[in-house]
Parts: sequence; structure tokens; C-alpha cells
Amino acid sequence: MTRYAVISDIHANLHALHAAFARIDELEVDDVICLGDIVGYGPDPDRCLDLVTRRCGVSVMGNHDLAVLDPAYVAGFNVTAREALRWTRDILEPMHLDALNRMRELEYIGRTITCVHDNPLPCSMTYIYDQQAATLAFRALTTPIALVGHTHLPMVFETRSTHVGDALTPGDVGAHVPRDGVPVALDPAARTICNPGSVGQPRDGDPRASLAVLDLDDWTFTVHRVRYDIAATQLASQKRGLPAVLAHRLAVGA
Ligand code: ZN
Repeated sequence: MTRYAVISDIHANLHALHAAFARIDELEVDDVICLGDIVGYGPDPDRCLDLVTRRCGVSVMGNHDLAVLDPAYVAGFNVTAREALRWTRDILEPMHLDALNRMRELEYIGRTITCVHDNPLPCSMTYIYDQQAATLAFRALTTPIALVGHTHLPMVFETRSTHVGDALTPGDVGAHVPRDGVPVALDPAARTICNPGSVGQPRDGDPRASLAVLDLDDWTFTVHRVRYDIAATQLASQKRGLPAVLAHRLAVGA
């Protein structure tokens, strides 16, 4: 398998997830990788879990997924996220909690790809927003490619350093913001951290769902943005009684 669709941070946004999979079906991939945060914030955690479980060959656990399983982690979230997490835990059936519980925090695909929600640094839960954060992540990255989510921002970081544990400076790391449909060339001789952005709650000012294709035939990472029915998700959120700010932010991609 050499061509993967990569999705992350779905956040129980079923309309966005349907639109993402409709695009993925056109992109002719061999498998779909999910980088976690399937639930939290949004109104359809059960149906999103069903879909991800059915469609994704690899699926890792995000921090919201973990907090639904273990309420001890809920305290670390802001007040609206906490409210949504409690609601999510209350409505999920045991089979859904079981599906979440089977997901691991880290998965490897051969010797090439590390899949993790937040950061290859063990148990860090830290965001890779910039080159400074990427230097630490590269110290722990044992494969040529890491696929990460968590920031809800599509990004590619690259370093020519191939040695795990190398003390890097931000100047040793290149950063690219991928544009919709424009492939970013990856260097097979380097190490790269790729983030597909968020399906269900984009935060880069573009409200369209974000996903990516990692192509290991030509070593490219291409982000795709997909329109979806934002109003339908907002209405569902309102009907479930979730905090209004969670619906509002979808329209502005923030
Ligand atoms: Zn998230």
C-alpha cells in the first residue's frame, strides 16, 4: 500500500466526515489513516465512530477520545470542551467506548510511518505549532515520516537530520503550509512531520474540512479542502444542547 488518505480531529462532525470520505473515494487511495480526536466538541460522536471504525485501517487515540474513556483527563480541558466531553460520555453506548478503548496512542506502518495524535515524544500531548516544537518532536521520531494532528492546522515540517536524539535548533527545521490541492514534495532522505489539518473543526481561517493524501510512490503530501454543510452541523449541535460557541466557530474556521 503506497497511497494513504489521512484524516484527523473529526470532533463528531458527521457532515464534515461524510464530505471528507466522498472526496477520499475520488482520490483512489489504498487505505485511510485516522489520527484521533474522533469525538469531542461535536454533535454526532457515535456515528462518526461507526464510520471511522468501518473505513480506517489505522486509527490512533486522541486526547479527547482518551478523556471520554477516562474522566480523570477531563479537568485539563477548557469549560466548553469539558461540557461537550461529559455529554459525549453520557450518550455513547458501551460498543462505542469499546471501539475507542481498542485504539492505541501510537501505530507504525512498516518502518516508514509513525501515526500519533499529538507528538512522537512519548506522553507529551504537546502541540507541534512551529519549528521550535518540531525540534523536540524530531528527537523522538524513529521513522522517516510522522503523521500528526492535534493543532487542527495543516503543516509540514522537515529536517535533514536523520539521527534520532540529535539536538536540533529551529534553523535545522523547514516549515511549509500546504495549499489546497498542491502537493508538497517530501525528501525520502530526510525526516518529515505531516499534519493533514482538521476534518471537523478547522482552525486556520478556512472553514472547509481538511484532509490529506500521503503518496509513497512519488513522496508527496497533498492537503485537500472540502466544503460541507456547516449549517447542518450547527443545527445538530444546537439540538443536542451543546455550547453555542462550538457551533459558531465552525463557520469561521477558528
Ligand atoms: Zn482536536
